[in-house]
Amino acid sequence: MGGRFRDVTDEIRRRVNILEVVSPHVTLRRAGRSYKGLCPFHSEKTPSFTVDPERGFFYCFGCHAGGDVFDFAMRIGSLPFKDALAELADRAGVRLPQTPAEEHRAGERERLLRAVADAAAWFRSQLEGRDGATARQYLASRGVDHGTQEAFRLGYAPPGWDRLGPALRGRGFEASVLEQAGLIVPRPGGDGYYDALRDRVVFPIHDLQGRPVAFGGRALGDGTPKYLNTRETSLFTKGKTLYALDAARQAIRETGQAVVVEGYMDALSCHQFGVRNAVASLGTALTLDQVLLLKRFASSAVLVYDADAAGVDAAERGIEIFDQAELPVYVAVLPGGADPDAFLREHGAAAFRQRLSGALPIFEYRLAMAERRHDRRTVEGKVGIVDEMESLITKVSNPVRQAEYVRVLAERLGVREDAVRGQLRRVGGRGRPGRSTGIEVRPVPEATARARAEELLLHLLVADVEVRRAFRDAVEPDAFRDPGHRALAEALLAAEAQGADANRLRERLQDETAVSLLSRFLIAEPPVRGDPRRVAEGCVQQIRLCDLDERIERLLEALTEAVQRQDDTRRDALAAELMRARREKDRVRELKVGV
Ligand SMILES: [Zn+2]
Repeated sequence: MGGRFRDVTDEIRRRVNILEVVSPHVTLRRAGRSYKGLCPFHSEKTPSFTVDPERGFFYCFGCHAGGDVFDFAMRIGSLPFKDALAELADRAGVRLPQTPAEEHRAGERERLLRAVADAAAWFRSQLEGRDGATARQYLASRGVDHGTQEAFRLGYAPPGWDRLGPALRGRGFEASVLEQAGLIVPRPGGDGYYDALRDRVVFPIHDLQGRPVAFGGRALGDGTPKYLNTRETSLFTKGKTLYALDAARQAIRETGQAVVVEGYMDALSCHQFGVRNAVASLGTALTLDQVLLLKRFASSAVLVYDADAAGVDAAERGIEIFDQAELPVYVAVLPGGADPDAFLREHGAAAFRQRLSGALPIFEYRLAMAERRHDRRTVEGKVGIVDEMESLITKVSNPVRQAEYVRVLAERLGVREDAVRGQLRRVGGRGRPGRSTGIEVRPVPEATARARAEELLLHLLVADVEVRRAFRDAVEPDAFRDPGHRALAEALLAAEAQGADANRLRERLQDETAVSLLSRFLIAEPPVRGDPRRVAEGCVQQIRLCDLDERIERLLEALTEAVQRQDDTRRDALAAELMRARREKDRVRELKVGV
């Protein structure tokens, strides 16, 4: 966290209660000094997610996610620190310090937003005016009612090359601003500009705050292409935007699920028929950024595609992205190649919802597609199915999920898991060199006596001011062998030496493990009976004993080597050193302190 923001982060911490930031995402119940709920970062049935409003920290005893209010905002929204800071500053009513260049950019952004908003209003007036008759007829024929047209601020770009541009310039917008906003396009040869959208129904694309940032246009008549977006600008990046998300975000939060369709009309129909958690991918394959954006509001997604090849393709590309984003995804198939818009108008909302609830996890969906092409009762069929599933399984980076896919596939085909694995490895080796199927879960190493002593000592140092004062000169960060422990100890001891507040500790940490440890130590009581200082002494003793044991071990090895090489001088020196180490060990062991 940059020093430039130090004062602001402090101010935000003072003004924003972490409970307010967490509660929209987690139902919290009071448990003593803290609050508990089901963790939003892993799936669980008993609450291990804990918030301590007094200290301003959260920690999950299940998945070890932890940190302060900024860490929570970053994690829940998949946001970089800068964006989390902006969001919380906004909530706290704190103004972020800006450099002159940033002020300038902000001013420019404002101008572009105003130009796009004015354009949206102008398109809207065109739809309702005399020129808009054909467009109104078109929307009526597609069953888009007036309420939906208003809610999504649909508009119309009339034919001709010079309508929007002159209208907005008449209101004082410079041509260069309109061009930067993607509304007008320079004429070849550099002689003036023409309108980007002509004779099209216009769908404003809004940002999360509901402000229009770009437009999609659907051609009336035979215009090509059928759908056209205004170009990407500093306000609008296609791959980072989802159509209708501003309207859908509340319903997505409430239901936990996002319905993803392909086109503008599909999304409009969904909303008109009461499926208010629908968004559209703007007619491209979903990007990782779009899925991460969804994940800010959704705990799962349903892709609604027609069952043609394009839909299968999109679903296959999607699996990798959803896997990377760790967002569970399902595929709902509509019969007969219908798109959601057509299906809703023909069969109604109840039938559509039924399709949604029958959606298959993406893996099962692909398996069902493969089974259509291969007969799983024959040997060749089984081989064909495994071949088809290979690309998908090897794309999955989570080893647990990958292993589960292999298990399901083996079970479905009635073959042994290692046979499937064998074929995957063979096929995978051929297709993508260097890419292993990696189907194994690394075991968590058992905590050694040393690690336990380090952890308890650190816990006491964090949680107990008295212990910290008493031990700050007796403990060196190097005493901690575990990298997470050492990072936290370094920050803690440095802060203590500078007389800094322990609450400022979070800002001194880069390492995620150290942040998780800090959160746990702040939230959980140290597992200690009796005098914390004596327990801390016991830990220090244990760590020193471990150090001495290691030293003795090394000396013994060196001594053996010296004896073998008949190096008497070295042998005598080592023997003396060994004796000192053993005496030291006896001395430390006799210091009567107990853990
Ligand atoms: Zn968790």
